[in-house]
Amino acid sequence: MLRGGCLCGGIRYEIVGPVGTALYCHCSMCRKFHGTAFRARLSVPKSSFRFVQGEELLTSYRSSADTIKRFCRACGSPMVNSWDPEPHNYGLALGSLDDDPGVRPLCHIFVNSKAPWYEITDDLPQYREFPES
Ligand SMILES: [Zn+2]
Ligand SMILES: [Zn+2]
Repeated sequence: MLRGGCLCGGIRYEIVGPVGTALYCHCSMCRKFHGTAFRARLSVPKSSFRFVQGEELLTSYRSSADTIKRFCRACGSPMVNSWDPEPHNYGLALGSLDDDPGVRPLCHIFVNSKAPWYEITDDLPQYREFPES
């Protein structure tokens, strides 16, 4: 089991079962939402994920027609996103995990939107937008 939660500790979640892939997203929306150079995101099947505390603290923002971002209204920590084309998965803010998910980010996406002040220094594949596969 993997555990995680928000900064203030009000929201706690558990993941039981396999997780999906992790990646780094450099799109402008992720940069704004996380206030960082990029977002580290882990794909988690909704069937494996459950809030165990503080779900009432979740609030959400629809950042685009097909994307809802959920975060703690007390401390602002990003939690899980829903993306309509993948209705069975959440996109989890990887930094909210307390435990090691066992997987490592596979690639960088939306590097055409990358912050000019950030240089990618690893050897992971880079995709200008969202990769086809
Ligand atoms: Zn919080
Ligand atoms: Zn993004």
